[in-house]
Amino acid sequence: MSAPDPVSIGTPGVPWGTAEIAEWRARQRKQRSHAADVLDAIDRLRGRFDVVEYGRLDYAPDSYPLLALRSRAWREDLPIALVTGGVHGYETSGVHGALRFLERHAVEYEGRINLVVVPCVSPWAYERIHRWNPDAIDPNRSFRAKSPARESAAVMDLLAPWRERVLVHVDLHETTDSDESEFRPALAARDGKPFEPEGIPDGFYLVDDSEHPQPDFQQAVIAAVEKVTHIAPADANGEIIGSPVVARGVIRYPLRALGLCAGVTDARYKTTTEVYPDSPRASAEQCNAAQAAAVCAALDFALAR
Ligand SMILES: [Zn+2]
Repeated sequence: MSAPDPVSIGTPGVPWGTAEIAEWRARQRKQRSHAADVLDAIDRLRGRFDVVEYGRLDYAPDSYPLLALRSRAWREDLPIALVTGGVHGYETSGVHGALRFLERHAVEYEGRINLVVVPCVSPWAYERIHRWNPDAIDPNRSFRAKSPARESAAVMDLLAPWRERVLVHVDLHETTDSDESEFRPALAARDGKPFEPEGIPDGFYLVDDSEHPQPDFQQAVIAAVEKVTHIAPADANGEIIGSPVVARGVIRYPLRALGLCAGVTDARYKTTTEVYPDSPRASAEQCNAAQAAAVCAALDFALAR
């Protein structure tokens, strides 16, 4: 299926208005089913976890329940581990890596830490294999007060009572070839700016918090993921997608200032995973396994301290 051409919408150099956003939205096609891929998988986990419907997105004619899974053996005296996937709906292994963690690994943490897992923050975009919500807003720049993205606002409301008790948060993402071929050109067009290619790193990397870096934590995750898939090297400038590589496979952003999901709590240990699914050296299975391995390594590191 060929990707829609976002650059032909509107006038070059002029940011999109309501009409351009409506034109963009009309071009998006449902390509897969949130109900079949995500809700059915969550149903199979209902015997083992408490499922919380923390909101609903009505994007007529579609309506999506927003679901989170919680440890059944929740204990008020334990810290919380938070896992988020599908903040970018097209980043498939974020969604399926979170589900895989629940299916295969979560049992190891029972009675040690309370789990909150949100497998698919942005279901409309999951179905359309896109980065934005229907309003052409990136949920992962929208984790802020009075968020313009309902997906982000719903997660913030869900987490409000727990924010200060979250010890570790892993936000599961991908960096894809379509970032360069489709989503960055669309962003430039939407904002009336020129598009400048940056290149896509071949391999897995992490984004740490420049305001509260945790280098040992990040390296523990890198070491675990490296057993599953390869780590992205720095480019000729010593960078990954325009940011300096501060340690093997690690860059840093000011998570909260950018409105990124990984900055949504006060967790001591937080990271954003970036799996590369388009590598000839990485299968879908490997990408899901890499996400689950990252979650396990993050929880193991946090619990050991
Ligand atoms: Zn992402």
